[in-house]
Amino acid sequence: MRTFRLAIAIFSLLLFTSLLAAAQQFDLVIEGGRVMDPETNLDATRNIGIRDGKIASISATSLAGRRVIHAAGLVVAPGFIDIHQHGQDLENQRVKAFDGVTSALEMEIGAADVTEFLQSKQGHSLINYGTTASHLAARSLVFGTPLPTGAIIPKSGPATDNPATPEQIKAIEQRLTHEIDAGALGVGMGIQYSPGATRLEVIDMFRLAASRALPVYTHIRSFGRVEPGSAIEAVEEVIGAAAISGAPLHIVHVNSTCLRDTFECLSLIEGARARGLDVTTEAYPYIAGLTPINSALFNPGWKDKLGIDYGNLVVPGTGEHLTKQRFDELHNSRTNQWVLVFANTQETIDATIPNPLIMIASDGDKGHPRDAGTYSRILAYYVREKGTLTLMEALRKMTLMPAQMLERSTPAARRKGRVQEGADADLVVFDPQTITDRSTYSQPMVPSVGVQYLLVGGTPLIDEGKMLDGVFPGQPILGPGNTGR
Ligand SMILES: [Zn+2]
Repeated sequence: MRTFRLAIAIFSLLLFTSLLAAAQQFDLVIEGGRVMDPETNLDATRNIGIRDGKIASISATSLAGRRVIHAAGLVVAPGFIDIHQHGQDLENQRVKAFDGVTSALEMEIGAADVTEFLQSKQGHSLINYGTTASHLAARSLVFGTPLPTGAIIPKSGPATDNPATPEQIKAIEQRLTHEIDAGALGVGMGIQYSPGATRLEVIDMFRLAASRALPVYTHIRSFGRVEPGSAIEAVEEVIGAAAISGAPLHIVHVNSTCLRDTFECLSLIEGARARGLDVTTEAYPYIAGLTPINSALFNPGWKDKLGIDYGNLVVPGTGEHLTKQRFDELHNSRTNQWVLVFANTQETIDATIPNPLIMIASDGDKGHPRDAGTYSRILAYYVREKGTLTLMEALRKMTLMPAQMLERSTPAARRKGRVQEGADADLVVFDPQTITDRSTYSQPMVPSVGVQYLLVGGTPLIDEGKMLDGVFPGQPILGPGNTGR
C-alpha cells in the first residue's frame, strides 16, 4: 500500500513538473543574444521568450521554447520603424526587411485613399504598415483632378498652384475627416508640392488635425536661402501653425529641405521644443533626394533656391545627368519621371545624423539607395566606420524615437520600438560586425546584408539570413479614428 502511495506521489510530481514546463514553454526563444533596449538602456546577454506575438520573458537564465534561435554574437534589438516610406509594394517591403525594418509607414504625405491602402495590405504585407491622411490627395480631388492610382504627388497645375476657395477648403477638410475616420495616423502635408495653399489653408489643416488630437507630418514649403521663401521661413511657418493650433508637428527630411542650413533649421526646432511645443524631425543618410520632375518642386526658380543646375539632376537607373533641353522635355512630359536631386554635401549629412533631435527615416522608394540601405548604412558607416554614433544611440534613432512619436496618435505604439516584457515581438537580430548596406545610386535595390533574423509580431520573416516564402505577418498600425467598424 505504501509503495502504491509513493508511486502516486511520484506520478503526481512528474505530472506537475511537466505541466509547469509546458506552462513555461514559449513559442520561440532567442537565446544568448546581446539584447539592447534604448528605453531602459538594457545592454546585456539575455534570453527572450516569445508567446502569442509578444515578448513574454527576458531572462538571464535559460528558457524553454518550441523553437530556439541561437543568437550568440548577434544583437537583438527592436525592429526598425521607418515612419517615412513611400514604396509600399512587396519588392520594397522585401528590401526594407533585409534592412531590419519591421514597420514602414507612409507618413510624409500619405496614401491617397486610406481605406483602399489598408484593405490592399491586409493579409498581404510582409511588415507592419500605416499611413497619414493626404492633404495633397484631398486637394487634388477637390480641384477635380484626383491623383492617379498609386501616385502620392500631383503633377503641377491648378490643383497645386492655385489658392483654394473657402468652399474648397471646407471640402478638403471633409475629405481629410473621412480619411482620419478610416484610420489615418495624422494629417500628411507636402506643402512644397501645393504652393498655391495659402498660410491660412495650412493653419486650417493644422486646426483640423488638432481637433482630432492628431499630429501633422509635413514636407515644408520651401528650400534654400532666397528670401522670401527660404527654408527658414518654411520651418517658421509650420512651427507657427503648430503653436497656433496645438497640433504636434513632425518635419520630414530636414536634411534634404534645409540643406546647408540644416543646423539653423534644427536650432529653430530646438527653440520651439524648449518653449514646450511638440516638434520632431528626421533625416536620411544620403546627399541626394528623389522626386517627380513634373511636380511643383520644379516650378520656376528651383535652381536659385537649391543652388544647383540641370547637371545635378540624374535619372535613376541610367545615370543620365540632365541638360536644360532634357529637363524641359521631362518636365513637360505626361509620364511621371522621377529624378535624383544632388543638392547636399557629405559634411552636412555626417554632422546631421548624430544630432540628438534627428530620428532616422528613409523616405524610401525604388530608384534611390535609401529605400534598401538607410538603416544598415547608419550601423555600418556612422556606428562602425566613423564612430560618430554609439550602437545604442543609433538604435534609439531607429526604434524608440519613432515609436514615441507614433504614440501621439496610437496607443499601440507603446508596444513598439522596445525590447521589454509585454512589447510586440517585432525584433531584428543582426551581426553588428557585418551589417552593411549594398544599395547604390546605380543599383538601388540591392538588399543589405547582416540581418540574420527578423520577427514581425513574433513570426519569423527572415530566418538564418533568408526570407521565408508565403509569410505575411505585417499588421496595420492605425490612428484613433478607426474604431474597428
Ligand atoms: Zn519629401
